[in-house]
Amino acid sequence: MKKIAVFPGSFSPFTLGHKSIIERSIHLFDQIIISIGINSEKENNLFSIEDRKRWIQNIYAKDHQIDVQTYQGLTVDYCKKVGAQYIIRGLRSSNDFRYERDISQMNRILNKNIDTIFIIASPETSHISSSLVRDIIKNGGDASDFIPKQITL
Ligand code: ADP
Repeated sequence: MKKIAVFPGSFSPFTLGHKSIIERSIHLFDQIIISIGINSEKENNLFSIEDRKRWIQNIYAKDHQIDVQTYQGLTVDYCKKVGAQYIIRGLRSSNDFRYERDISQMNRILNKNIDTIFIIASPETSHISSSLVRDIIKNGGDASDFIPKQITL
């Protein structure tokens, strides 16, 4: 059976931290679907869903193991729909861990066929977060050290 993983997130925008998680986990799976969750409560208006998707597609245009999609609703339901057995999440801190542990355990109860695989952030990129990148951009700063070069803001 093909090993398929979903890497869900807001990716607003996709950063070098996200890219590092993909690079380190791609060897574990046949396919990774980078899945932009459309969540109205968390939605910020800085980057449209279309821009976020196109930027990630540009980064992985030549990589047939990686697909980019958007989804709405529960991540486990979406995983079932696309045939994914795994969810990938990155952990930067103990705060991330506490939050992610609860979600992964609740997801296990919702669907016991789906496991969450955690990758600890690389020391080179663990300080990067999309929210800080957004702050830099909103305030007219240069965020190019934190995002892939294919992202043209
Ligand atoms: P969400 O809103 O679901 O947290 P994000 O786009 O902020 O979505 O993050 C998606 C995933 O990437 C999360 O698992 C998050 O912990 C992880 N992540 C974000 N930034 C980094 C980073 N610098 N290093 C490792 N993982 C990261």
